[in-house]
Amino acid sequence: MAVITRPLPVAPRPKPGELISSWLGRTAARYDMDGAAFRALLLPDDGQGRDRLDLQLTAGEVTGIADAFRLPPEHVAALDLTQAWPCLAVDWLPGVGRKMRARSNLDLPWCRKCLEEGHSSGGTHLDREAALPLCLCHRHQHWRVDCCQHCSPDNPPRFVWDKGEVELACGDCRRLLRTPGRPIWAECWGNDDRHMGRKFEIMLLFERCLRSALLGHQVRIEGVGRVEPAEFLALVDDLTRALLAPNRSSTSLINRYGCDFLRIEPDHRPTDWRERPYPELGPMTRAWVLSAIIAIVSGETIGLLFSGRYWARHSGGDNARSPEWLFEHAATWVKAMLIRGSARWPAPLRERMRTLHAGSGLDVDDILIRFETWRVEEDRVRFGTQRPDWEQLIDWSWL
Ligand SMILES: [Zn+2]
Ligand SMILES: [Zn+2]
Repeated sequence: MAVITRPLPVAPRPKPGELISSWLGRTAARYDMDGAAFRALLLPDDGQGRDRLDLQLTAGEVTGIADAFRLPPEHVAALDLTQAWPCLAVDWLPGVGRKMRARSNLDLPWCRKCLEEGHSSGGTHLDREAALPLCLCHRHQHWRVDCCQHCSPDNPPRFVWDKGEVELACGDCRRLLRTPGRPIWAECWGNDDRHMGRKFEIMLLFERCLRSALLGHQVRIEGVGRVEPAEFLALVDDLTRALLAPNRSSTSLINRYGCDFLRIEPDHRPTDWRERPYPELGPMTRAWVLSAIIAIVSGETIGLLFSGRYWARHSGGDNARSPEWLFEHAATWVKAMLIRGSARWPAPLRERMRTLHAGSGLDVDDILIRFETWRVEEDRVRFGTQRPDWEQLIDWSWL
């Protein structure tokens, strides 16, 4: 193992807009070290509960990195995501850790074209866009992926020293992530497919709004109008929970939304009651949920585009894509959750939920308290040693 001295004898400069974890990961590769081990040497306090290395650096961390790389501290501080994007919705960044999807600070949805571009212009790296929970690269209008396209890796990606250059490689099979692998889901349809091309454009526009909201900007949503960023994020959050929530048949409403666009089988089968927040979904599920949300909140013209062949077979012809359809078909506790959550939504959708609430006559507080009690009991039966109280479970089957 290389000996790390300060300042570092080899200290690459950060690329414009690069993630701090990418910069340190690239540097670690120059010393043939793992990024985490390198950080532990560079920042003695590293590992004291820090989640994302790319934001909210302490003054000590800024100084430590600046000294090691012989850079002005303000240069390092400017790379902090919260400095680059002062209104960033920090709690929407995917977490890192055992119970989170990301297995390391580099385990982020990357754009192959961005990696390729970096490689041909001085070095493969991850830019700060990769930290956002997006399905698409909005610069290249290209799908992001967060999994090696050659294998199913157990380990996160890492920077490696390869043929005299630093590259981002799969943590298992070591293939370079900038090289094309097996085509991902929606790369399978041709660019000349006008129907799919139109859907892609709509999705791109909608996700551009999500990106703006994540960075704290007001957005204009087709079918809704101008909305505050917090309202839009609350809407996406609640609709994601409603779409993925398990019902008694261990399926979810997301399966009722057509996804020929993404070429995935609508077969989401949750096995527990764990919440799946939008930022913690994989890019494919995220894209599916986002396309369903587009169908729900947009007007009829766009909603129809996201209906798909699957939908035509199963819908029976009713207007399945609207918030009203979602409400009608949701379990009682999901209805209550949507009503309560809608207090934070954009005004036009809040009004529609108010009408639905009034028509349903539901006592939201009572339902949510009963649901929580039921869920605790369900968990105890499933995971605990206590004998199940089946009678009580049957009594609660209204869920
Ligand atoms: Zn890109
Ligand atoms: Zn691999």
